[in-house]
Amino acid sequence: MQTKAYAAQSPTDLFGPYEIERRAPGARDVAIEVLYCGVCHSDLHTARSEWPGTRYPCVPGHEIVGRVTAVGADVAKFRVGDVAAVGCMVDSCRHCPSCDDGLEQYCQHGFTATYNGNVFGGGENTFGGYSASIVVDERFVLRVSHPEADLPAVAPLLCAGITTWSPLRRWGAGPGKKVGIVGIGGLGHMGVKLSHALGAHTVAFTTSPGKIDAAKALGADEVVVSKHPDEMAAHAGSFDFILNTVAVSHDLDPFVALLKRDGTMTLVGVPATPHLSPNVGGLIFGRRSIAGSLIGGIPETQEMLDFCAERGVVADVEMIAMQEIDKAYGRMVKSDVKYRFVIDVDTLRNAA
Ligand code: ZN
Ligand code: ZN
Repeated sequence: MQTKAYAAQSPTDLFGPYEIERRAPGARDVAIEVLYCGVCHSDLHTARSEWPGTRYPCVPGHEIVGRVTAVGADVAKFRVGDVAAVGCMVDSCRHCPSCDDGLEQYCQHGFTATYNGNVFGGGENTFGGYSASIVVDERFVLRVSHPEADLPAVAPLLCAGITTWSPLRRWGAGPGKKVGIVGIGGLGHMGVKLSHALGAHTVAFTTSPGKIDAAKALGADEVVVSKHPDEMAAHAGSFDFILNTVAVSHDLDPFVALLKRDGTMTLVGVPATPHLSPNVGGLIFGRRSIAGSLIGGIPETQEMLDFCAERGVVADVEMIAMQEIDKAYGRMVKSDVKYRFVIDVDTLRNAA
């Protein structure tokens, strides 16, 4: 099935219209008309070959919300007309210990990324949500129960939402816990919303005093300007957990010093140049940990979507037309977005 898409043909080309082939739905496949697709920093890094291994043409997009148009004979969870979502993965080996645990993102054979991934068995490139439709095995398709009007703002939950939800849950964010969120961008703004919704005392860290009111509006109980040492010192040794979303190299020690005994700071951003090596003393005196976390598994993604639907949690988004994607990337590089761009995929479908 030929499908309209938007592709980058090289690291330096602007995006342009491109036709891709979607497979006919097999017995366990769900065919989805893409309605909305969030724009993640990974899209930009991949399209511009800032990370190794980009294959062209490159059709990014892994924050996908759409409507089911066809299902295979063995599909049990979805019917034609349902709202469905697809995140960062479309397949994995399904039999290794991580897959058995529903943590497909750590598949020992490597999960199949929604775009720029290797189709299992075939090796050909995968194409993401900057396209009018997608066909995915139902194991990797999520149910969405938010109201229709919320669907554009649901899309970023599929990457920004789950990337923050998984560590918040893993390290026990909830009532009685003091949780810090470092960086108030696409990921961090979801971290603040989810930590708050989970009932944790939530403290946002930003380098810009201009972001204090915005962080409070997202649900932060307190906001700390991390470049003010006196404000940082006031919180020394008090955090159960800190989620650090900053993808720029920075000094981790001032944040480690804010952890309680046995506290953990988890990193979800990969900086282009490494962080300074942390001071081991800061870890030893207090038995503190620095950890990492990658997106989230399919069962926990469903858990997050259901929780967000029940609590009315969505991302803060700015809708764009498909044709505005290069302009949007330009603004993302300048952090000029509150907090996620979402593509209205009808603008691709209806383009001449
Ligand atoms: Zn992403
Ligand atoms: Zn596996």
